[in-house]
Amino acid sequence: MKDLLSRNLMELRGRIAEACEQSNRDADDVSIVAVTKTHPAAVIRTAVAAGLHEIGESRIQEAEPKITELGPIARFHMVGHLQTNKVRKAVALFDVIQSVDSFKLAWEINRQAGLISRTIECYVQLNSSGESHKYGVSPDECLNLVRQAQALDNIKLTGLMTIGPLTDDEEAVLRSFHLCRELFRQARDIADDDFDTLSMGMSGDFALAIAEGATMIRVGTALFGPRPPV
Ligand SMILES: *Cc1c(COP(=O)(O)O)cnc(C)c1O
Repeated sequence: MKDLLSRNLMELRGRIAEACEQSNRDADDVSIVAVTKTHPAAVIRTAVAAGLHEIGESRIQEAEPKITELGPIARFHMVGHLQTNKVRKAVALFDVIQSVDSFKLAWEINRQAGLISRTIECYVQLNSSGESHKYGVSPDECLNLVRQAQALDNIKLTGLMTIGPLTDDEEAVLRSFHLCRELFRQARDIADDDFDTLSMGMSGDFALAIAEGATMIRVGTALFGPRPPV
């Protein structure tokens, strides 16, 4: 895994640099969250040793034993849908929750974080593709949620996250990322100064996301290879 990962990481950095060059951006302005879902804790250790210090997981049940075993060796990002009954665990395990998509969820995160005297970094997740099965707040509600979430004392709201539509239609993917970029721009006007992260793009579409201004991409397959089907 170590050699494969080093090779994949080098190739990924090359593709990020290329995408940045094409849109006149600095490659240092795009960070990588390595998404390690389905992979064991040992893979996370290898990733951290390779220089990947932001790790993404999508299910509490799976992440809990891994993060508990590893301790604070990286910044852990929750990127999957979060149910309110799992929030207590989420605020104890994760450094960043990227999937805040309702005020009810934000409120519970704030409450649970308060109970353990911590402030937790959060992003609002936008449903930018209009696919009804996707999680995320609608474009119409997005700025409202930004306003409400950032007013909560134990939440530090620092960005927007979106998942592009799962399609080969590049125009549709670009439209989705463009919408997210536009809402990000508007959100920055109403949010605090440290609201600076636009998390969009995965293995299949990060170049398009970078073209539309992503400052953070979340990559699993391109680093660790295909996952077993769920
Ligand atoms: C799994 C996952 C990723 C990574 O997907 P890949 O296609 O393997 O790069 C990114 N973001 C979220 C929210 C995910 O669930």
